Amino acid sequence: MLQKINIAIDGHSSCGKGTLAREMAEKLNYTFIDSGSMYRAVALFFLQNDILISDTEQVVKALKQINLDFQYSDTHSRFEICLNGLSVEKRIRQMDVAAIVSDVAALSSVRKELVRMQQDLGKNKGVVMDGRDIGTVVFPDAELKIFMTADVEIRAQRRHKELFATGSEISFEEVLDNLTSRDRIDSNREDSPLTMTDDYRLLDNSHISQKEQLQIALEWVEEIQKKNGNP
Ligand code: C5P
Repeated sequence: MLQKINIAIDGHSSCGKGTLAREMAEKLNYTFIDSGSMYRAVALFFLQNDILISDTEQVVKALKQINLDFQYSDTHSRFEICLNGLSVEKRIRQMDVAAIVSDVAALSSVRKELVRMQQDLGKNKGVVMDGRDIGTVVFPDAELKIFMTADVEIRAQRRHKELFATGSEISFEEVLDNLTSRDRIDSNREDSPLTMTDDYRLLDNSHISQKEQLQIALEWVEEIQKKNGNP
């Protein structure tokens, strides 16, 4: 039997990390975990409860009231992030959450809590997790680390199209601003900034299709498995 590995996919906002992670997990029969959804769910709780990000005491107290888990949705045939038992998978994609999530994710108390949960989810291997610090902090010994990026205008166009399809009237400029600002905060924060270290493989999908990126990533998995002595 093939030995399972952990796969870390990090990179810039809205470049399709989640799509690739989900497709890889399906092909390999692994578990897909969207770590960003966990930060988004915490941000949603902060929004709903008027938690002041700058007030450490409030933040620590709020974290104790948050329970996150992934539950299977028969309607959508996928695991969805649940905040205190309720699916918030759709709600956390809205712009009010996107506007504050990177500030919430920059808080060390929040990261400590979520990293612990993520490490627990990956302890038996066979996980594809996407985020910003998966290969550097969550699974530093992940067998495959992919750093994804794409031209920021192309990312914003793709995201804008997606939001538009869900009925959102947000402008292209607002989407572009949000992506640029999240990338800046994620790459410059003190605690676990988004960084591409030497052990990552770079995947720029500005001009390649979803199918092509999946093929490239699966070839990398095969190469690693061969190196590990699997046929
Ligand atoms: O992946 P997604 O864009 O949904 O993540 C939302 C935000 O959560 C990111 O912009 C980033 O600020 C934060 N995040 C993080 N570390 C992760 C995953 C997400 O800081 N591992």
